[in-house]
Amino acid sequence: MAFNAFHPPLRTLMGPGPSDVPPRILEALGRPTIGHLDPKFIDLMDEVKALLQYVMQTENALTLPISAPGSAGMEACFVNLVEPGEKVIVCQNGVFGGRMKENAERCGADVLLLQDAWGSAVDPQQLEDALKANPDTKVVAFVHAETSTGAQSDARTLVELAHRHDCLTIVDAVTSLAGTPVMVDEWEIDALYSGSQKCLSCVPGIAPVSFGERALHKITNRVHKVQSWFLDMNLVMGYWGAGARRAYHHTAPVNAMYALHEALLMVREEGLENAWTRHRRNHEALKAGLEAMGLSFIVDEAHRLPQLNAVAIPAGVEDAAVRARLLKEHHLEIGAGLGDLAGKVWRIGLMGYSSRIENITQCLAALDGVLADMQAPVVHGVALPAAEKILAA
Ligand SMILES: *Cc1c(COP(=O)(O)O)cnc(C)c1O
Repeated sequence: MAFNAFHPPLRTLMGPGPSDVPPRILEALGRPTIGHLDPKFIDLMDEVKALLQYVMQTENALTLPISAPGSAGMEACFVNLVEPGEKVIVCQNGVFGGRMKENAERCGADVLLLQDAWGSAVDPQQLEDALKANPDTKVVAFVHAETSTGAQSDARTLVELAHRHDCLTIVDAVTSLAGTPVMVDEWEIDALYSGSQKCLSCVPGIAPVSFGERALHKITNRVHKVQSWFLDMNLVMGYWGAGARRAYHHTAPVNAMYALHEALLMVREEGLENAWTRHRRNHEALKAGLEAMGLSFIVDEAHRLPQLNAVAIPAGVEDAAVRARLLKEHHLEIGAGLGDLAGKVWRIGLMGYSSRIENITQCLAALDGVLADMQAPVVHGVALPAAEKILAA
């Protein structure tokens, strides 16, 4: 068997992540590798932290990128904030809430799982009732933007409820960060994690996290050692902490940090508010096109994420066949349903650099073409004009 260099096909990424990585970020990724304790790299680390504080709207000193994917960000929050035997409330309204429960259990927590229908936002009333009935709860965790369903929950309200009952909060902002507002300080979030490959449009494999004062107090006053050596913030702090005290913990993915820095710079240059507006506007255009075709969203308008559009697959249409043709004939990736929604929805991402007019027109044209060819029960030839009308407004 002969092995050759791998040349990936050129795709348009409109699934649940990774999103399209702009050339500027790929170019940054390819710059010469330097040592991870090189003073120039340490300067870069400081800038990455400062830019993350901007994107997360926080002054938390403990704001840094974990050298691993979003799932490691989730795990970092749980292993650091949960001690064995503590009661943890996890609000679940999709796949990722289920993973939070798994994490909490593996930390030895006594987990109370509050479930909401998939496609709904987390219900604050259910959380409040559970907090009243369980005054010994220490941590409340929920997903801000459920990528598996396209629903956004009211993070500010949920955090406020948790604090009223003396609980710390863990918030998953993997899909929300840089796509819709995430205000760590204003909402008083204690621990937040995200990912590099969604609305930041960076290469996958980095998890920005931020811990507030209360969380930091718990981390530095733990009874039990954090079960994970790699994710123990007490140790990671020595590596990512203030300038001169930098000590070797692990080797940061140097080139991936160049890419993250460039991605954060791009958000900074565009301006966070402008990025949110762009995500909202492009969602409106895509929505107009999809609805003109006769496709419908599974999430109520009030809780819909602009960056993750979950639409019901029309009756009689074969999910996998459509996605395979989009990929093969149009080099376009859209997402399949996960868990309870497998085979029932398509998840069309408009995240970061993928949230562009070109992507919207490509997606609508491709979907229209493939569905027409399969004689699916949708209206043809109307999606693009409907989207263009919104974009021209
Ligand atoms: C993508 C995602 C994750 C996991 O991130 P990975 O980088 O795939 O590990 C966690 N939570 C949510 C809401 C996500 O969308």
